[in-house]
Amino acid sequence: MAFQGRTQKNSGRVGVEMSQQLAINGGMPVRDEFLPYGSQWLDEDDIQAVVDVLKSDWITTGPKVDEFEQKFAQYVGAKYAVALSSGTAALHAAVFACGIGPGDEVITTPLTFAASANCVIYQGAKPVFADVQPDTLNIDPKEVEKKITGKTKAIIAVDYTGLPCDYDEIREFADKYGLLLIEDASHAIGAGYKGKRIGLINDLTTFSFHPVKHITTGEGGMITTDNSEFAEKLRIFRNHGIITGARERQKKGVWFYKMVDLGYNYRITDFQCALGMSQLAKLDLFLARRREIAGKYSKAFANLPEITTPPVFEDRVSAWHLYVIQLNFDLPRESRSRIFAALRAENIGVNVHYIPVYWHPYYQKLGYKKGVCPNAEAAYERLISLPIFPKMTDRDVHDVTKAVEKVVANFQSTTAARGR
Ligand SMILES: *Cc1c(COP(=O)(O)O)cnc(C)c1O
Repeated sequence: MAFQGRTQKNSGRVGVEMSQQLAINGGMPVRDEFLPYGSQWLDEDDIQAVVDVLKSDWITTGPKVDEFEQKFAQYVGAKYAVALSSGTAALHAAVFACGIGPGDEVITTPLTFAASANCVIYQGAKPVFADVQPDTLNIDPKEVEKKITGKTKAIIAVDYTGLPCDYDEIREFADKYGLLLIEDASHAIGAGYKGKRIGLINDLTTFSFHPVKHITTGEGGMITTDNSEFAEKLRIFRNHGIITGARERQKKGVWFYKMVDLGYNYRITDFQCALGMSQLAKLDLFLARRREIAGKYSKAFANLPEITTPPVFEDRVSAWHLYVIQLNFDLPRESRSRIFAALRAENIGVNVHYIPVYWHPYYQKLGYKKGVCPNAEAAYERLISLPIFPKMTDRDVHDVTKAVEKVVANFQSTTAARGR
């Protein structure tokens, strides 16, 4: 029932004041135990898969890496998949494979985790931020075109929250100006765009297996591509820039190896890949539960005019990594912080995704100016991520909606009272 607080206020006054008092003001929290915004799901079979590898001969760069790559490529429908030690390593490797270096520019969104832009700086190039669409909060293709210069080499699009970007439009500009299109799909494994699965649409697509993401390997990442040259470069890059790996050397009985580029140790272990495979087998169930939770939230908040729920589109399927609401009532500047703190006090592990990347002190030091992406900056002031992960029970989901209703109702009445 939406707006419990308001309806009850007219009936049983005393009880209402007690139950509706915000935890931050000394009232009872909606729940006793803290609910995080994201968390992994690990079963016995996941644990067993890791243990089996630990008892085998190869614990890193062995058969499980190849197997996981093949299964992953198959899942998304791409020709090649290359596994790495993290989603960040995957982004770095993708930028490397595109041949991006000093003097080059890469256009990306400011409303993302810093790694989506840092990977450009790792290669000595410059990230350029293009503003987002106010509804999807994904990079706006029209803003991308405005930022294209003679130095632009690539675009890194991020499927914010798991909702795919407008790839047909972005692709049009990429083709027109001869740019490569990297997709940071850390939020979007299993998502779909116009009947296609994320991971096969763009030149290079990167994924993350951090525990808050859909499937986990502890730390880990993947890149999918249909381009064999890219795949080859990625494999070399993750292994110091060396051409043959230890396993091939042993197989062939040769000692010789060549370092042909400056690479890194971005390898992933076999036991992580075993975990990745047992997780991948459950991905569709995880995705279904995330979709279900998102549906429950959107339904619960449909009658709450103070909140804008995430948009849903006919031609794409979100992977629902995040469920981000926008507070759309007239807010004094500090209100989001107060609502955030009030929800945390109710033991709801809300979060904020993201501080615009160029607002971070490091980027400010590099000379990036605030104000260049007004939609992203305005959205940042109003958004809150609610907990969403497959292990959440219906009770957890109910606690979140109850807490949001309670806090919003309370906040509205106090601002109204102050206004009088
Ligand atoms: C999680 C994430 C990354 C980084 O992935 P790691 O595996 O933590 O290195 C990059 N980009 C986005 C958008 C992410 O959410």
